Order: sequence, then structure tokens, then C-alpha cells
Amino acid sequence: MPPSFLPGLINDASGDPGLFISFAFNRRAVAFDLGEIAALSPRDSLKISHVFITHTHMDHFAGFDRLLRIMLGRSKTLYLYGPEGFLRNLEGKLSAYTWNLVQKFTNQLIIYATELTETKRITRRYACRDGFQPASGPQSSDALPPLPLRVLYQEPSFNVSASILDHGIPCLGFSLKENFRINIRKERLEALGFVPGPWLQRFKQAVYDGQDPEWIVPVTQGKNHSPNFRHYTIKELLQEIAMVGKGQKISYIADAAYHPANVEKMIGLAKDADHLFIEAAFLEKDREHALKKHHLTARQAGEIAGKARVRRFTLFHFSPRYQHSEKLFYSEAMEAYSEQLKGIPGTPGA
Ligand SMILES: [Zn+2]
Ligand SMILES: [Zn+2]
Repeated sequence: MPPSFLPGLINDASGDPGLFISFAFNRRAVAFDLGEIAALSPRDSLKISHVFITHTHMDHFAGFDRLLRIMLGRSKTLYLYGPEGFLRNLEGKLSAYTWNLVQKFTNQLIIYATELTETKRITRRYACRDGFQPASGPQSSDALPPLPLRVLYQEPSFNVSASILDHGIPCLGFSLKENFRINIRKERLEALGFVPGPWLQRFKQAVYDGQDPEWIVPVTQGKNHSPNFRHYTIKELLQEIAMVGKGQKISYIADAAYHPANVEKMIGLAKDADHLFIEAAFLEKDREHALKKHHLTARQAGEIAGKARVRRFTLFHFSPRYQHSEKLFYSEAMEAYSEQLKGIPGTPGA
């Protein structure tokens, strides 16, 4: 069963941070951070519906201009999320351009941006036709009880949660979690004479969307040259051909200081992730410097990955002071990761 979400760093480990997560079963993607995104094709950029920004240091947000340029003049809604101060930073970017011609655009780009703080979540709407001025009238604002981890966005098949980490400034860490996986039992398809086809995806999507169990799916049966259709309910198909299992989890930690309270939050965020993308700006020999800059070393990143029992991790955000040192970063991180997992039964492989 292929994974539902395909994550990949936009740049190499020394480049600007940015994770592009494409959806395996439809033409859609989400992104964590937007540093330089020239490596992303316009076609891929246009798949992005939601962008989650850890913080607005330039290396994490400079790519927003390029994304805006690509999406401008298209009929599209883009959702952005960021930490405290995010709306002010976004409005600064949007007000840096002259928008006297956009009223004539037939296609309208609309941006919904949400800022998450310890106690509240504020959302504002920006429409292209209004020159991206924040919409007048009441903005949505929820008062939130303090929690280490909160769901920032959700839809029936997955959610994205955030933790507010310390990077000298508030910096969000993210986890995308699929609510569950639907595994198709191939032997049952064969036994029942079901022919795999687009109906399988329709069935899975309907389950992910929380459709009524009595909803009907036309199933292709028989040989390809003489197919016929029989109607089954979602409930029947779940019983006959599917197994529902644990969903995929992808975590992303960019720019965080190494101290006990922050480490605890990072472990909570990445707990049991299938794939953790974690910054490692420095090597352990420069640990003091990393602390001053509110960044992690490779060893610290590996230790956090091990304590969170992630199945796999990828390092990024290597400082330009290290040339061609990728192996060193990984050997240091892998050593710490393995130390954490030593002696734990059912140890996952990295
Ligand atoms: Zn930073
Ligand atoms: Zn950074």
C-alpha cells in the first residue's frame, strides 16, 4: 500500500527550509515553510492549498512572493498559518506591491491567514480584488486554553497540529497526521472478481470524507473486455475488501533551541512519526554556538528523533560554515538516535 502523503524537501540540506508534501491520490499539496522555492515547478506550486510557516525569518518565508506571483490571476483560495506576529508580517509583504489593476481580474485569488499564539487563533481574509487589504468587519478569533499541542487545521482524512517552540521567538513545529489508512485486501478483490479501477479511489475518498456508510459505490467486476458494474454500499466494501489501519504521520521541526522544555515539546510533537524532518544547523562541536543561535546540533536532532521513536528522520538547515559535511551530520545524529533506541523492543529502522 503506497503512502498517502509524499513529503520531500524543496532544497538540499544546506538550502532554505521548505517541505513540499504532495497527496498521492489527488493533485494537491501542502507545504511547511516557504524559503526559496525556485526548485518547485509552477505546476507543483499550484497544487498547494495550505502553507504552514514555522516563523518569518527570511529563509523560511521569502518564497511567499514567488508563490503569490504564480497564483496571482488564478481562481484559487490559499490558506496560510503562522506564529505570533504572522499577520503583520504577511500584511507587510502584501502591501509592498501596487495593486491598481487587480480589480479587473476575472479570476480571484483569496488568502485566508491564521496566526496562532499561546492563547488565541486569529484569522483574516485577503482578496486580490481588494488589493489584499484585510477584509473589513469582524475577523474570526478564538480564545484557546493553553495546550502543548493543538490542531491547527483538520479535514476528514487528516489534520495538521502545531506546537509553539522556542527559537528565541515563538516558532511553530508541525505534524501532519492521517486519521487512518484504508488498506485494500488484494486477495479479496480477486476472490470477489472485483477489477481495480477509479472506483477504488472513490470508495477510499468517500470513507476519508466521512460519507454515509449506506452511500453506494458502483464496483467494476468481470474481465476488462466485458466489465459490468454492481452496486455496493461503503459499509459492505469496508467489510469485504478493506482493512482500516493506523494513518501516516509526518513531523517537521525547524529552528528550535535545545533546552528541556523545548525538547519535551518536540518529542510530544513528533511522537511515533513515520518521518520526522528536523533542523540540524550545527555539529555537536559547535554546541555552544548552536545554543546562542537557538538552533539544534545534529546530535541533538538525532536524540530527539530517538526519544520520539520516529521510524525515519531527515536532517536539514545545515549552516553554510560546513561544506560537504552531510555524512558527518548523519553519523552524529544516527549515533544519538540509536543510543536512544538501544534495548527498546520493536526498535524501528531509520
Ligand atoms: Zn530562524
Ligand atoms: Zn532558519
